[in-house]
Order: sequence, then C-alpha cells, then structure tokens
Amino acid sequence: MREYSPAQELFHNIPYIGMTVLGAIVLGVAPGGSIWGIIAGIAFLIYGLAGTLWIMVFVCPYCGYWDTKACPCGYGRIAAKFRKKKPIECFSEKFKKHIPVIVPLWLIPVLVGVPFVIRSFSWTLLGLLVVFAIEAFVILPVASTKHGCKECPQRDTCPWMKKKSKNAA
Ligand code: SF4
Repeated sequence: MREYSPAQELFHNIPYIGMTVLGAIVLGVAPGGSIWGIIAGIAFLIYGLAGTLWIMVFVCPYCGYWDTKACPCGYGRIAAKFRKKKPIECFSEKFKKHIPVIVPLWLIPVLVGVPFVIRSFSWTLLGLLVVFAIEAFVILPVASTKHGCKECPQRDTCPWMKKKSKNAA
C-alpha cells in the first residue's frame, strides 16, 4: 500500500483549494465592490470548507483507507478523529449520494459571474471567470484523474473513476 507524506497530501489538495479561492474572488468582484460581493465570497469559502468536512463525515468512514496514510489527500486520517469506521461495501453508494453536495462549487461562480459580465462588462471579471473555468473544469479534473485519483487506493470502487475509465474506453 502506497503511503503519502503530509507534503504530498497538501499537494493533492491544491487544485480544490485553488478552485474554492478563485470562486470566492469571482463572487467578491462580480457586484463591483459591493459589500454583498464580499459576503458572498466569504460564504463561498465557508461552503468549500464545509464541503470538505461533509466528505470526511459522510464518505471517508466507508473508505478502505480511512485512518491510513494511503489516502492521497489526508481526509481519511482527519475523518478518523471524529468518525467511526463504517462498512466499506457502502462506499460507492455513499460517494454517489454525497458528492452532489459539493457540485455547486463548480457552478455558482459561473452562474453568478456570467450575468454580471453581460450586464456590466468588466475585463477583470471576465478574466477571473476564464481563470476559474480553466481551474475548475480543466486543471482540477485532469489533476484528479491523472494524479490524485489515479493513485487513490479506492479507485476501483469509486463511481467517478469508473465513469472516467468507461469514457476513456
Ligand atoms: S481516499 Fe477519498 S474517500 Fe478514502 S479516505 Fe481518502 S478522501 Fe476519503
């Protein structure tokens, strides 16, 4: 079983952190310096953090790599501090059920930012949206599939990786 160092765990978290921070900046900039933008940006950061916690609480306990250094992003070891081990047979079902909770992280900055660009055009906001889209829809999925998830010990039972393998076939 491959084990990951804290530095490698941190490295695997960078794409998700990058997307969350960029999304928060998009929301912060979109209303043109309004206090509501700042509030929305902070709320988005909290949502990103809460999403991570949600996965640790509702998915990681069902993973075979719960409480081991084999979890590429380190969630499994953190989850073990406040959740008990659950049946590994339910991993796929729990993954499918709980991943939709974090999917809006990919959508909210686009759904909020695009109307603002159309209504009151700004190169700054457009540039941020493009960078966010590249990070969320290209870099993060490629990094996950080619690196983090590719090395994940749970990949054979992970619905995301099974879907990717089917698409690649
Ligand atoms: S490999 Fe994935 S599901 Fe398993 S403990 Fe790590 S983050 Fe959780």
